[in-house]
Amino acid sequence: MSVTLNPGFTEVRTRFAPSPTGYLHVGGARSALFNLLFAKHNNGKFILRIEDTDQARSTEESLKMMIQDMVWLGLNWDEGVDPVTLKDMGAYAPYRQSQRLDIYKKVADELIANGKAYYCFMTDEELEAERARVKAINQNAHVESPYEMWTLDQAKAELAKGKTAVVRFRTKHLRKDYLLNDLIRGEVRFPSDMVGDFVLLRSDGMPVYNFCCVVDDYMMKISHVLRAEEHLPNTLRQLMIYEGMNWPTPQFGHISLVLDDDRQKLSKRKGAVACDQFMKDGYLPEALNNFMALLGWSHPEGKEIFSMDEMIKLFTLDRVNASGAVFDRVKFKWMNAQYLRAQDSQTIWNQVKPYLVAAGIHLPKEAGDAAWQMKSVETFKPKLEILTDAVALYQSLDDSKFEISDESNEALGWEPTKAVLTTWKNQIEAHATETFTEADFVAIENAVKTGANVKGKNLFMPIRVAVIGKPHGTEVKLLVPLMTKQSLLTRVNKVLAKLG
Ligand code: GLU
Repeated sequence: MSVTLNPGFTEVRTRFAPSPTGYLHVGGARSALFNLLFAKHNNGKFILRIEDTDQARSTEESLKMMIQDMVWLGLNWDEGVDPVTLKDMGAYAPYRQSQRLDIYKKVADELIANGKAYYCFMTDEELEAERARVKAINQNAHVESPYEMWTLDQAKAELAKGKTAVVRFRTKHLRKDYLLNDLIRGEVRFPSDMVGDFVLLRSDGMPVYNFCCVVDDYMMKISHVLRAEEHLPNTLRQLMIYEGMNWPTPQFGHISLVLDDDRQKLSKRKGAVACDQFMKDGYLPEALNNFMALLGWSHPEGKEIFSMDEMIKLFTLDRVNASGAVFDRVKFKWMNAQYLRAQDSQTIWNQVKPYLVAAGIHLPKEAGDAAWQMKSVETFKPKLEILTDAVALYQSLDDSKFEISDESNEALGWEPTKAVLTTWKNQIEAHATETFTEADFVAIENAVKTGANVKGKNLFMPIRVAVIGKPHGTEVKLLVPLMTKQSLLTRVNKVLAKLG
């Protein structure tokens, strides 16, 4: 293990703590990945905790989706909810905050009993007036509650009358700077008056994020909290709670934002951001993990392509950059292509096929043969960056999708084109077998060249139009061996009919 632990900790334990209120954003997945890499690099444990106290926004549907994406990525956790049954697995259950409400209540009671927190009975109107007062002062002022002065007995008497209260953490006496040695950002200093007496439990008893986060991180023995930079300001409140409970604090590392190429926070405006969408678009999980690792971390030898095992072996926080990481979509595609093409043809075919089926592509009956499948993959592989690219590529083999594009008009207008097409048709018709090899195609092309007495683009462009309906695109020499005599004849007849 290459890290030191804070006093009170015996092993590295990290967690990913998503709120199941939507899809798994690539920024969240990157946090999960970093936590997993850090834990595994240090022979530790990686925990999945579900922060579902926002009952209005949390859904089981979202939880299932997030879990499915994490499983797809292979970001396997040691404790948390079971990926299949969604039941708790691990010694610190329950792992869903909505099932831990009595735990938070107990801790809140302890803070209240020790004078670290108090019941606050301010009404909405009183709060609003206090907020207006604070705003008018326009400095580092915070909402002040008159109930901070109350004794616990006074408060209890009020509760006994059926009044409801929030529980606030008392901050007034904490007059000092809080120092955080952030593992990524270095020393961060928080003056305590950055915050006022903040809420721990709402009047309906629901805990707020900062409170349950601390309770759970402590109780689940989390030694290192690696999370998004946007939580940095929350850390002050969290440090205060640790101190109030006299609990050992974990170490924190705040990971920079993922940015779009305009250096704004990565958003849907520029393309997909959901892991689920990347999966649907035909990115491979290995490529996404590799790409996410480079969103802030760098390989010690500057390598771009590396496996999960290599990441685990090499991942240290000193190589994590504190400045924003740009999500370069072009590079991501390039990286995916590297992973995709490195696989054997059978694997690629198995990955591509569902996309073709979903797109309703009709392939020649030969496509049922393994030899055809492998040949097609070899043909299209150099153009395949993501699996969805396969649809347009294989579509050129679907007769029902054959169309003569407007781009073809120029070639169709050339004087020798009709002779080229007629000779081509005759040669195809005369071919002895139903299918063609690349050599067959070359021989036929040569025969057309002599027969129609043309060469260069006057020869190959009309042939291309006769095969794929357009003068540019995948080399026909490679496509013809994937097509049948009948298909080629259907196509050339359509072109000849157009020519009149
Ligand atoms: N539920 C919080 C989030 O999704 C977790 C933050 C944290 O890791 O402390 O942003």
